[in-house]
Amino acid sequence: MDNCIFCKIIKGDIPSTKIYEDDHVLAFLDISQVTKGHTLVIPKRHIKDLYEMDEDTASHLFRVVPKITRAIMDAMGAKGLNVAINNREVAGQTVFHSHIHLIPRYSDQDGFTIRFTNNMDQYSQDDLITIGQQIQNHI
Ligand code: 5GP
Ligand code: ZN
Repeated sequence: MDNCIFCKIIKGDIPSTKIYEDDHVLAFLDISQVTKGHTLVIPKRHIKDLYEMDEDTASHLFRVVPKITRAIMDAMGAKGLNVAINNREVAGQTVFHSHIHLIPRYSDQDGFTIRFTNNMDQYSQDDLITIGQQIQNHI
């Protein structure tokens, strides 16, 4: 896609620090380096987000994640690694060509935070059954 920054990186029109490339996938360092070694893994097909993604693209994309995770952690000496995918603006997506963030972790104060709030006091067991059925109905 013409005005997509990641398509331009794939074509080589914009420089990037490449980590891995095959026929379907490119991995390169994120320019913001939230932590040292922060990497993006992207499909070469322009697909906006997970909602739009077909199974073949997903299997090519996710297949390479474990080996790139190991490479980053071993090379950087990371103690852990977060995987993040922001889908759509409300979830923090700013580049609308789908991508997986691999964010190596060195300590709990290394620049990346993720916090899950436990809201279980707002749901009954019946609510969970209803929610589960609603989602199942769409699969
Ligand atoms: P999002 O917020 O959409 O999940 O993440 C987009 C990411 O793309 C950001 O972390 C941002 O730093 C990165 N990014 C944006 N433009 C460029 C670029 O031109 N080169 C590289 N390497 N990363 C970019
Ligand atoms: Zn694109």
